[in-house]
Amino acid sequence: MNKGIPQEGVILRIKPESQRITLLDSVEGKRMLLFSSYAPVGALITYSAFTRLGIPRLVLHELCAVPLRIAAHSLCFLHYALALCDVGIPLGSCVQEAYNILAWLCQENAILSSVQKDFFLAKLIMVLGLHTTQSYLCERCARVIRAMSVDTLSIVALELDCCAHLPRWIQQCLEEYVVKAGYERASDKYAG
Ligand SMILES: [Zn+2]
Repeated sequence: MNKGIPQEGVILRIKPESQRITLLDSVEGKRMLLFSSYAPVGALITYSAFTRLGIPRLVLHELCAVPLRIAAHSLCFLHYALALCDVGIPLGSCVQEAYNILAWLCQENAILSSVQKDFFLAKLIMVLGLHTTQSYLCERCARVIRAMSVDTLSIVALELDCCAHLPRWIQQCLEEYVVKAGYERASDKYAG
């Protein structure tokens, strides 16, 4: 690892009691590091890492983007987006597309409508391969969501039936993967 070149990542989770953070690095993928400064969950940061006494540690370089507006407006949605990446990506692995859309979310920091949040989470679930066993979506609509760009969240053409079923499908995926993994159920409706 080159200590001179800062690495970039999004903070997925912080465990203050052990000063450990889970980070999704743009290249190295999901990592757990010891961290003694402060940066909020969801922040896009640059950092360097070094190992001391056998423990990998993070040195913060810069807080590049913090999704404060999203956190203020819809903390549940942000919580689930980060949690999906945490449970869906094994340590040491990088799902590049998931990183890209998560970094987009942090940088864009836009207030998304309820429908846009549905599409975003559905896209993330597809990218991570966290499909629930019970499918509420037809194959065509599943393909449309998989292929859509997060820049065009509001103009995705889904059949009405599938659109109506989308929130239930997402909720089931969240139950099956995020809540079962020990994450708190943020609320019944993440759109809040
Ligand atoms: Zn459909």
